Amino acid sequence: MYLAMLMHANTRMNLTAIRDEEAAWEKHIFDALTLVPVLAELDDGASVVDIGSGGGLPGIPLAIVMPKVWFTLVDATKKKIEYLDQVIDGLGLKNVRAINARAEGLGADRGEKTPAGRVGGHRAHYDVAMARGVGQIAMLAELTVPLVKIGGLVLMTKGQRAEEELEAAKAALHMLHTNHAGTIETPTGRVVVLEKQRKTPRDYPRRDGEPKRSPLGVGKKDGKKTMGNGQ
Ligand code: SAH
Repeated sequence: MYLAMLMHANTRMNLTAIRDEEAAWEKHIFDALTLVPVLAELDDGASVVDIGSGGGLPGIPLAIVMPKVWFTLVDATKKKIEYLDQVIDGLGLKNVRAINARAEGLGADRGEKTPAGRVGGHRAHYDVAMARGVGQIAMLAELTVPLVKIGGLVLMTKGQRAEEELEAAKAALHMLHTNHAGTIETPTGRVVVLEKQRKTPRDYPRRDGEPKRSPLGVGKKDGKKTMGNGQ
């Protein structure tokens, strides 16, 4: 039913280049489910955020098979969130919410300060952040790492270029106090796993668009600039 909704919405919105349903089963549903072995380690009630979820990938297939985990799907495009709300409603999913926001803004959202401490907020809130097809690792790390708790994981669905991107992201991972925990070979590609070691420095994420325009630690000039940020 999800795939039918995705294919139907794709006729009026650009959600996926794959129009063949058979191929979509493999490239979308099966590919999303390759994250299950990692997420299966989570306790009931754990929270997962899908950054740049677009048509709902990998978030929706995972939410269908893991009803005891909370999923937050985030996308910067309002139209896509309206479609995702219809999917969530249509499928009767009770463990998913869709938010129209940029990851940069959510990563800086510390919630409200109350006498009891801080409540709400997306920063350092999630057990896992994941993303597929949103950008290179150096850039994506800045969008995702601030959202997870210390000890939390970031899962990036990647292809052949995973190693190359990781190499280019070395400085960024260092600045974000995050380790490369491993890369899992799956039948459809690779899943790069990062683990947040310590609190994210308050400079990150930088303002909207900056992580993409000038990825952390990539390129000489920007490397110097970010290194001079008191890190
Ligand atoms: N994950 C989906 C969609 C990938 S397309 C899939 O694998 O099919 C990338 C999506 O990321 C787009 O829908 C775009 O709107 C969203 N996006 C890009 N940058 C973003 C940001 N900074 N914050 C939130 N969403 C973003």
